[in-house]
Amino acid sequence: MAAMLNVACPHCTFVMTDDGSLAGQLVSCPNCTGQLVMPSAVMGEPVYQQPAYDPGFDPGPAYADSGGGPKNSGAAAVMSFLVPGLGQIYNGDIGKGLMMIIGMVVSIVLFFFLIGFVTYFLIWLWSIYDAYNRAESINAKHRSRRMKSRGRAGY
Ligand SMILES: [Zn+2]
Repeated sequence: MAAMLNVACPHCTFVMTDDGSLAGQLVSCPNCTGQLVMPSAVMGEPVYQQPAYDPGFDPGPAYADSGGGPKNSGAAAVMSFLVPGLGQIYNGDIGKGLMMIIGMVVSIVLFFFLIGFVTYFLIWLWSIYDAYNRAESINAKHRSRRMKSRGRAGY
């Protein structure tokens, strides 16, 4: 079974299919006749090959930034909504996105510290209240026992 390789033409984005027999060879795009070297890597996604003999070729805005491809602003907003910083990373602002994620982690840690403080405070109040009530009930038993013993003693 020959693994099929989809290769996107760097000149016109026309996607060619190669069964591997053209790997490493210089081929002409059937759509625009631009030349490119067929990659040998087998991948499911189209491989965006660099132009073979055109060092001055501008691949255009779609390939210009390292992040690659146009950005879906709606998807970026949804990502940042779900995970602050994720939309920034999607947009290629890796540093800013990581800063936001670190800030969120610090906030979550502080949030848990606050929760810890609240539960600590509630347990503290419960402990005071419970200690008071238990002491009262124990004292009441002792009082009744004393009264009984006093009664038994004839007072
Ligand atoms: Zn082409």
